[in-house]
Amino acid sequence: MKFLRFKHQGRTALGVLVADDKQVLDLTQALEGGPTDIPALVAGGSAALAAVATLIKGPVQPGISVEDIEWLAPVKPAKNVFCVGRNYREHIIEGNIARGVDPYAFPDAIEFFTKPPTTVIGHKATVLRHAALTDNLDYEVELGIVIGQGGRDISVEDAMNHVFGFTIVNDVTARNLQRKHGQWFKGKGLDTTCPIGPVIVHRSAIGDPNNLSIDLSVNGEMRQSDNTRDMIFNIPVIVSQLSAGLTLEPGDVIATGTPKGVGFAMKPPKCLNAGDVMVARIEGIGELQNKVVD
Ligand code: MG
Repeated sequence: MKFLRFKHQGRTALGVLVADDKQVLDLTQALEGGPTDIPALVAGGSAALAAVATLIKGPVQPGISVEDIEWLAPVKPAKNVFCVGRNYREHIIEGNIARGVDPYAFPDAIEFFTKPPTTVIGHKATVLRHAALTDNLDYEVELGIVIGQGGRDISVEDAMNHVFGFTIVNDVTARNLQRKHGQWFKGKGLDTTCPIGPVIVHRSAIGDPNNLSIDLSVNGEMRQSDNTRDMIFNIPVIVSQLSAGLTLEPGDVIATGTPKGVGFAMKPPKCLNAGDVMVARIEGIGELQNKVVD
């Protein structure tokens, strides 16, 4: 099941992809209670998910063509997006080399930061270049966890029971601001710098989330290409440690870190320019495409 939020003929709705991902079924219209987002669907419990499964099994209903919708971020940002910094081995090594420190200095604990709701945009929406503020805007493809049932002090063993599904996040970053301000928030917090989508794949349909190919290209040139198995802290560990003493709620998003190949670590470094098109892909989820504009 691939869930999305979309706009069509002036209304905003929750949907699910059908017909080989070419059409959208409007779940806000079709389901009892008219859920408009993932938290509302989660509130409906297993009955709501079973109703979706029945709907998409058929008989096939006429859906809306994906060509005719405006894609929204599949979760409505009610609060900051949680993020994990430096979580892929090769990416940590390339970053350490670029900063001139010990290449093999890996973090002992998970590095958490957040991006505000005003950063969040959907598939095919444009990312502002922010040229007055940064001369090195960069991309970071990441696997995004979407929380289903909320909770606090979630154990590693129980963590996957709190995951609704998975999506793609592009943690676009102003590298100069990230370094200048000590804490990463400012460099990670500029408007439109958190594309999410295009869909959330329910956890039952993803297999092992720590064994997915993940990549990102800019204007067709492959920049990042790796597998989520290269994470130092895996999905259950991230959910468990973030939820220690901190309540996770339905619809919360956790970006899980980016693999090697970011622009600032290239020789010479490459930054994003107006007109660049980023395509972030994760196996089993799809492609998240966003263009950079002035
Ligand atoms: Mg990141």
